[in-house]
Amino acid sequence: MDATGPITRACSRLPAAWRKQRVIMHADMDAFYASVEQRERPDLKGRPVIVGGPRDARGVVAAASYEARAHGVRSAMPLRQAARLCPHAEFVTGRMRLYSDVSQKVMRVFGTYTPLVEPLSLDEAFLDVTGCERRFGTPHEIADHVRAAVRAAVDLPISVGIATNKSVAKIASTLAKPDGRRVVPPGSEQDFLDPLPVRMIWGIGPKSEARLAARGIRTIGELSRHDPSRMRELRKPTTLARGFDPRDVESDRAAKSVGNEVTFSHDTGDLALVLRYLRQLADHVARRLRAKRLAGRTVVLKLRYADFRTITRQVTLKKATDQTRAIFGAIRDLLGREARGQDVFRLVGVHVTGIEPVSSRQLSLISRTERDPRPLEIAMDEVRTRFGDAVITHAALLGSSARLDRERYAWREDVLG
Ligand SMILES: [Mg+2]
Repeated sequence: MDATGPITRACSRLPAAWRKQRVIMHADMDAFYASVEQRERPDLKGRPVIVGGPRDARGVVAAASYEARAHGVRSAMPLRQAARLCPHAEFVTGRMRLYSDVSQKVMRVFGTYTPLVEPLSLDEAFLDVTGCERRFGTPHEIADHVRAAVRAAVDLPISVGIATNKSVAKIASTLAKPDGRRVVPPGSEQDFLDPLPVRMIWGIGPKSEARLAARGIRTIGELSRHDPSRMRELRKPTTLARGFDPRDVESDRAAKSVGNEVTFSHDTGDLALVLRYLRQLADHVARRLRAKRLAGRTVVLKLRYADFRTITRQVTLKKATDQTRAIFGAIRDLLGREARGQDVFRLVGVHVTGIEPVSSRQLSLISRTERDPRPLEIAMDEVRTRFGDAVITHAALLGSSARLDRERYAWREDVLG
């Protein structure tokens, strides 16, 4: 319908069931990185595309086009396994900067519908579109509007779920994929959820799924009828399985975490080498924070061992930081406490959480303190922005074995709001 049409006409078109209900949308780009690559390279259209790195690299699949998924390829699967399943796929190294540019355009489109946008990652967000019927009509029509606007802005497919709460909306968008929409009217939540597998509920991972299966609970309907007092960690998922989710769309949430990880091309027990990688990761995370004028209080070290055992260790600093030195200092201490001589690592990561915006007042206070590394780091950021990463790096990173070769690593960036 015409977005500028008479308000009264649009109002009268809101189905009775939706009155006095929240209208929550979950919008999720389809196979985002792979779709961007297909858009950029027309020769990839209609072909299996796997984003993550070369087919023989040791990283994991960051995104797979639907043509590749038809062969069983999934996100987070090792690239080599993907290559066995789909040998004729095109393997592409991710271009995070491009994806994040596209993401910003998509988020801007969302913002034209409602100020209540909560990004969950680069390619998905919750939107509270309650009240939007005045301009955009029924929930079905709002979904179509948003999908068409995203298509017009970035020429990419997106799927949309609409329901009265976040949990149901997110499941609806998953079922709408690819390039579709699904609306779950108020009152029909339980019928919608009942036949679906329990793993579609937030908080049900492979472990809980197995424990539930052992008790004969496989569908959301079965979970909804289960008494959660016997498995306390399932209290929240059971509420969601009953179609309830009181959480609001939190538009003012800034980035929840900023992080980078690297998978080594060969497992390594060389702690000095691991530290040099962690230094570079800390530097990259700090740069991303500074670029967004953010700082974080909690520094998280992630370690995956050769046997795939994965741990995180964290420390909360006295005040939020955006500085390589502070982040790396915390990471080095955490590694020092955790590492044993015989450890062999497969992946390491640096994340910063407890994110807050840096006010200009804080900036001026900090830059007056003595021995502050900030002016140097900002100057380095500027040089690298203009001339590329290879031009300048911290002295501790120099040395041939420590240079990050992005072509050969699965480079994973968490998401920013
Ligand atoms: Mg997606």
